[in-house]
Amino acid sequence: MRITQVRELTVPLSGGVANAVVDFSGHTVSLVALVSDVVRQGRPVTGVAFNSIGRFAQGGIVRERMAPRLLAAAPAALLDDAGERLDPARVLAVAMRDEKPGGHGDRAGAAAAIELAVWDLNAKLADEPAHVAIARASGRAPSFAPVEVYTGGGYYHRPGTGWSLRDEIAHYRDLGFRSFKIKIGGAPLAEDMRRVEEALAAAGGGANLMVDANGRFDLPTALAYAKALAPCALRWYEEAGDPLDYRLQSELAAAYPGALATGENLFSAIDTLNLVRFGGMRAGRDLFQMDPGLSYGLTGYARMLDVLQAHGFDRACAIPHGGHLINLHIVTGLGLGACEAYPGVFQPFGGYSPDCSIRAGQVRPGDAPGFGLERKTELAPWLAKLAA
Ligand code: MG
Repeated sequence: MRITQVRELTVPLSGGVANAVVDFSGHTVSLVALVSDVVRQGRPVTGVAFNSIGRFAQGGIVRERMAPRLLAAAPAALLDDAGERLDPARVLAVAMRDEKPGGHGDRAGAAAAIELAVWDLNAKLADEPAHVAIARASGRAPSFAPVEVYTGGGYYHRPGTGWSLRDEIAHYRDLGFRSFKIKIGGAPLAEDMRRVEEALAAAGGGANLMVDANGRFDLPTALAYAKALAPCALRWYEEAGDPLDYRLQSELAAAYPGALATGENLFSAIDTLNLVRFGGMRAGRDLFQMDPGLSYGLTGYARMLDVLQAHGFDRACAIPHGGHLINLHIVTGLGLGACEAYPGVFQPFGGYSPDCSIRAGQVRPGDAPGFGLERKTELAPWLAKLAA
């Protein structure tokens, strides 16, 4: 088999939200299709995926650098040893040909969208959900049990929306969620602590509540928040400082008794290695949020997991950033700690399809072949446009 076309469509995000640092209303995502020469029911079998949410589309990198490399490669160079299916790691290696090491920026997301589309394509060819293919490829028995899910909401809504943090959490609870993350760092400490108190009451205690500073704080501010937050016994305190400031992370870990979470803005195994070498991360307590869609796909993510496990961290401490169908299949297939959801925002990508049941804080993927993106109502018009 061979790839006949690589398509990319830049899709705008809808849902006007912002965190302490970033306004998402102008964000875009790269939706990528790998069209194969395998024809079923009169149509070519096509793998579809996207880079994650929270960065920007990488259409230029996909179209100008990576797609030409894939289309110019000998078809056999992209296949597994049996010569029957695309090999995700080989596709990634060809897409990355002539790229220098280091500088893991937008290209890590561009490569991820392509690599993840291989998983969708292979699962569709095998007529099975992607999480089954992912489990098998990593030597695990497929699991059909639901996984823990939490909401990544609690944003600073624009004034005049008539919507409070308490309303937002109550709404998520009605949808079946049981733990909730809110943003901090977009307001002074005292005001943020009022938000935390409001959220604690709505969430039913610190075990159900996380806070996320989105990398905004310097060390004194991170420590001041740590001191104020410690009595709340939160589930975790996320991305206090710059994602690459491992000394800050390490000093914070020495001062904060609760769980810290970080990693969503690390895009490579070597950055992950530096985090565990120098970031003071504590096994059995702290959490890692690297996101396959931002870090060379599942191939890159598996290398990160290897780093964690080689340093004594269980895979349950991996909770990927990015609440969408692709990461739901990855969390389920790899047996990771939990996955995220963004009900109602970051459309058309955020959240799950109607056949994914969310109940008592757990979610289960549907049974569609691949990642099941075709069953996500909001994505359907964009998939049609991508195929046109
Ligand atoms: Mg975050």
